[in-house]
Amino acid sequence: MKHSPNNPILLTSSLHVDEARKAIANLVSELLQESQAINDPTDIETVSLDQAINRILAEDLLSSIDVPAADNSAMDGYAFNGKCLATNTLDISLKIVGTALAGKPYEGKIADGECLKIMTGAVMPTDCDTVIPQEFTSSSNAETISFNSNQLKAGENRRLRGEDLQKGQAAITAGRLLRPSDLGLAASLGIATLKVRRKLKVAILSSGDELRSLGQALDAGSIYDSNRYSLTGLLNRLDLEIIDCGIVRDDPASLKQAFIDATSKADVLISSGGVSVGEADFTKQIMQELGDVGFWKIAMRPGRPMAFGILKPDLGNASARKTLFFGLPGNPVAVMVTFYQFVRSALLQLNGASQTEPPLMQALSETTIRKKPGRTEFQRAILGRNAEGRPTVRLTGSQGAGILRSMSEANCFVILGHDQGNIAAGDWVDIALFDGLL
Ligand code: AMP
Ligand code: MG
Repeated sequence: MKHSPNNPILLTSSLHVDEARKAIANLVSELLQESQAINDPTDIETVSLDQAINRILAEDLLSSIDVPAADNSAMDGYAFNGKCLATNTLDISLKIVGTALAGKPYEGKIADGECLKIMTGAVMPTDCDTVIPQEFTSSSNAETISFNSNQLKAGENRRLRGEDLQKGQAAITAGRLLRPSDLGLAASLGIATLKVRRKLKVAILSSGDELRSLGQALDAGSIYDSNRYSLTGLLNRLDLEIIDCGIVRDDPASLKQAFIDATSKADVLISSGGVSVGEADFTKQIMQELGDVGFWKIAMRPGRPMAFGILKPDLGNASARKTLFFGLPGNPVAVMVTFYQFVRSALLQLNGASQTEPPLMQALSETTIRKKPGRTEFQRAILGRNAEGRPTVRLTGSQGAGILRSMSEANCFVILGHDQGNIAAGDWVDIALFDGLL
């Protein structure tokens, strides 16, 4: 297996972020091809449109109609036959013979020298192919309009039947993470239900003797478990089924049992804590008994240690399915960064999404940023605009991996690439907006 501890990429002391992403994507695609795939692509649910937001479309959505269903007007104005524009007459006068509204077509004929008052969306009469917008016309009485023929060409301001979508064409292709516009599009085709992929079952747990649940008293040296809450928020952005496995003590028997329980219920297990240098040996031993998990030192900040692989405890049940495992670092910001960089794409890939990479954009750095080449950094920042209207970013205070406030105040990451050195004020930097993602 590509992620196995014998793989040469794991022998390098620091794994490039891109290599880690590639290894994860490769393992997920191997898993998808297995006969007992973690998330069988044929595992499909039918849901009504109002339940379909953020789900992943399982089959192409074919249109059963032409959209629009008939030629119609793109403007409020007057429809006429555009052949009169080809004559040498500059000033054209047409007699108004009727009105067509959206939903109320005009049934009569429009002869040469005549026009039809028409509203946006109303069906074009068969004798007409052109619409002159209302604002380009003048009128000295209620029966006629005049306009200058230079103002338009034959065929303008008409929407053609099937111009948006032709009957039988895919309106939305399988793998789309459904957004509000997709639901509107499905409704415009008269489609009330969609076939979507089953929700992935994702178990989360926090490990650490120092962790306390909300509501418990904080004794000396203990802290509240925040990671399960940020992870729940992150996972809810993707509309998954979350299985909360709580807090697990740093004790081999409890940890092992918690992993076995989680794998019996979930397609994916995400833990936080217990993979840093001090604790990895202990976790490694448990993982060796439960599956095939690599312990990575990734060249990134924050989020250096991470475990990744497959859990398949041998419980005497040959048909037991595999569970994909992410052992994220314990630091609260590192959890969110590693989720963003590695977990999110893998979950989308596993659930058949066609677009798994989050969008990147660029902004001008307001300040200098210190950066050592040789690792990818994710700094927390606020996107704004300068006087010229250009996008700018400013870092949010202290950037320690445990300082969750820097994340909470931010609305984007500044992503500084592996080979990048210091950034000067006014340099363009890559950014990833949190909105909709984190
Ligand atoms: P670890 O990766 O277990 O060595 O943890 C690294 C740091 O993150 C330590 O300071 C932990 O106390 C902290 N930490 C670990 N898990 C959590 C959690 N669930 N919530 C908040 N902080 C955590
Ligand atoms: Mg720990």
